[in-house]
Amino acid sequence: MGRDHNLASEKSQEWLKENTKRYAFKKLERDVIASGACVECGSCVVGCPVDALTGEFVDSKYTPTLTGKCTACGICYAMCPRTFVLENEVIGDYVGVWKARSLGSQGRQDGGVVTALLAMMLDKGEIEAAITVGQIDDKPWMPVAKRNTSKKEVLDSGGTIYTHAQVVGEMHNCYKENLSSVAVVGTSCNIDAINRMQVHPGGLFNIDSKMSVFKICLFCTESFGYNGLVSFLKSQNINIKKVERFAIAKGEFSVTIGGETRSWPVKDLDSLAASSCAYCSDYTGMNSDISCGNVGTDEGWTTVIVRSKRAEGILKDAIKNGIIEAEEIDEKAIQAVINSARFKMNKRYALQSSP
Ligand SMILES: Cc1cc2nc3c(=O)[nH]c(=O)nc-3n(C[C@H](O)[C@H](O)[C@H](O)COP(=O)(O)OP(=O)(O)OC[C@H]3O[C@@H](n4cnc5c(N)ncnc54)[C@H](O)[C@@H]3O)c2cc1C
Repeated sequence: MGRDHNLASEKSQEWLKENTKRYAFKKLERDVIASGACVECGSCVVGCPVDALTGEFVDSKYTPTLTGKCTACGICYAMCPRTFVLENEVIGDYVGVWKARSLGSQGRQDGGVVTALLAMMLDKGEIEAAITVGQIDDKPWMPVAKRNTSKKEVLDSGGTIYTHAQVVGEMHNCYKENLSSVAVVGTSCNIDAINRMQVHPGGLFNIDSKMSVFKICLFCTESFGYNGLVSFLKSQNINIKKVERFAIAKGEFSVTIGGETRSWPVKDLDSLAASSCAYCSDYTGMNSDISCGNVGTDEGWTTVIVRSKRAEGILKDAIKNGIIEAEEIDEKAIQAVINSARFKMNKRYALQSSP
């Protein structure tokens, strides 16, 4: 029996009409066609429910062109393989998204959730070591991987350093010393490296799974090269040694010295980003157990994407034990995270951000 193309097509259109964000073809034209990201597949032309698009050959290049009336249904944008529209494409799978903050008084970047959870895990013996970052005296704000084996130690390692850190190396040392359970904090590139070791057929932790690794990812738009950051600060008459705190929130990069804070739009510092960041499209660390950032929540709180059952258990345990306060967040707040994640993905293709 032949396929019922009409029925399949009707169902597909029905689903898309209900679930697709409404964009005019103009957006696809600007983001994908004009930017050179179009792969000439014609999925937008095939998908258009009102046959408003035609694949024309312009200088022998297949070019989707508006030849009818666009109803701004957004289906061409949704069907394009170079756009990111589904939630799990941009922030990965999760079991819940929370806003949370530590009820303790330790140093922290946002809600202090990362530190609070690690402290609890160490205290309860759930992990033997938590790998975070610290600083060395002669190069302030240059992150160095730090192994914490007690609650007291980890409480001193809160806060963010916006430069790549080699936490994987310290995790490997733990493995060589026969530890059986650790937690590691890192940006999505660190988490991907660990994930590779866990899932690659030749990966160390795939071949020998004796050490469990709980992966905490920090949301990340980009990290800065150390020398570039120092030069930028110098150009602003700021000595990095005097900086008390760096922060990125709401599109602003800020530096606090002597209790005073100066800010610049993050986009002004794009040239300081590590070159590798241009190849990264993962904002939240989709391969982690838990992802934390400030986007999507109020100042002083952390947005927490909980991806694994183990992570959910740890978060709920921390709430029950009065270590953190937390509540599940609504669609609107999650949308802010999705938008930031989509912005990063689109940037990889040098596309403009989605509204
Ligand atoms: C390079 C970078 C870019 C970021 N960009 C964004 C962004 O665009 N949007 C956003 O919402 N959030 C971003 N964050 C995350 C944000 O700054 C906070 O780290 C996050 O909200 C957790 O806050 P917290 O108070 O719960 O963590 P805390 O309790 O303060 O704990 C933070 C933990 O992270 C560790 N850590 C700090 N720097 C590094 C590092 N470089 N590598 C590995 N571990 C580290 C600390 O040692 C500590 O254990 C970024 C983080 C980094 C490192």
